[in-house]
Amino acid sequence: MAAVDRMDIQAAIERWVRPEIRALSAYHVPDSSGLIKLDAMENPYSWPEALRQEWLELLHQTDVNRYPDPQGNALKQRLRISMQIPEEAEVLLGNGSDELIQMLALTLAGSDRVVLSVEPSFVMYRMIALFAGMPYQGVPLNSSDFSLDLPALLTAIEQHQPAIIYLAYPNNPTGNLFEAVEIRQIIEAAPGLVIVDEAYAPFTAASFMSELGRYPNLLVMRTLSKLGLAGLRLGLLAGPKPWLEEVDKTRLPYNINTLSQVSAEFALRHEPVFDEQTQLIRQQRSQLFAALDDIDGITPYPSDANFILVRMPTRRANEIHTAMRDQKVLVKNLNGAHPLLTDCLRITIGTPEENRAAINALKTAL
Ligand SMILES: *Cc1c(COP(=O)(O)O)cnc(C)c1O
Repeated sequence: MAAVDRMDIQAAIERWVRPEIRALSAYHVPDSSGLIKLDAMENPYSWPEALRQEWLELLHQTDVNRYPDPQGNALKQRLRISMQIPEEAEVLLGNGSDELIQMLALTLAGSDRVVLSVEPSFVMYRMIALFAGMPYQGVPLNSSDFSLDLPALLTAIEQHQPAIIYLAYPNNPTGNLFEAVEIRQIIEAAPGLVIVDEAYAPFTAASFMSELGRYPNLLVMRTLSKLGLAGLRLGLLAGPKPWLEEVDKTRLPYNINTLSQVSAEFALRHEPVFDEQTQLIRQQRSQLFAALDDIDGITPYPSDANFILVRMPTRRANEIHTAMRDQKVLVKNLNGAHPLLTDCLRITIGTPEENRAAINALKTAL
């Protein structure tokens, strides 16, 4: 058989792969081996040894020759308790909240169905809209404090009649909470669904979960990733049953594997362990903020999440990011990601030692 001709493959790709997909660069996760990893909003704490042993015993009794529980009912019950999901709300599970964003897109997609969000915010809202062939509209946040530009949002809603609006609460990558009264105005003005994405719920008291019964078009999205279970890949949508029954039709069968179901249910039965960890992270957030605020020439932004956005001196973010990495501290460089994020780095809250290392690396880099 003749060797495969690379030019033939290239020609076929140009003929068949959608132009908008060809134009993308693949999602790049930088190599972090040997580095203090403060770039991805992970919980820095693992599980106590006794809990690990108990977990292993549970896994020992778990069979994987059968398909998982298709609805994940035991896990859903546990999530209802732990996240105080109102009884009248329905719950839908996703392989991370990313998969739920994808299911929503598959449910509502159309070339005239707009996805609207604010900018800067979580990039998957825009990416998945693109994958699904939905036009995307991003409305810039106010530049001084990353608050909502409510008049601009209401105008955009009127003009584009979006099928889906995403609001991350608190917002990533800025860390702030939007005004709840303004979010309610958006829910009331929206012709389609409004998804309040509460990925950072473990680090704030604010939530729209208790407001689910009040609006026909509000869904609340959560994930276990930032709580400390990022490796399990589990997200959920809560909201009106008729809506979630439609979205559920696009769910791939058995999307939550048995090991994730069993492990997440187990972890949530030991919630105090995670409460203690998130408490520590919140305390560290205050300390890290104070330490950053003490450094001349940089500006940390107040955060209700497990990370802090920091603006570096003009045109120095790239160089500082590299210098910190050379000192074994990996943070996220957001310079260039959006005009409002020029000169910005995002630092995930780590252990006290990791945060000290980050501060030292930053001071040296400056
Ligand atoms: C991290 C993050 C998610 C993704 O969570 P997964 O459940 O890990 O897919 C969703 N929304 C926001 C705003 C996030 O920052």
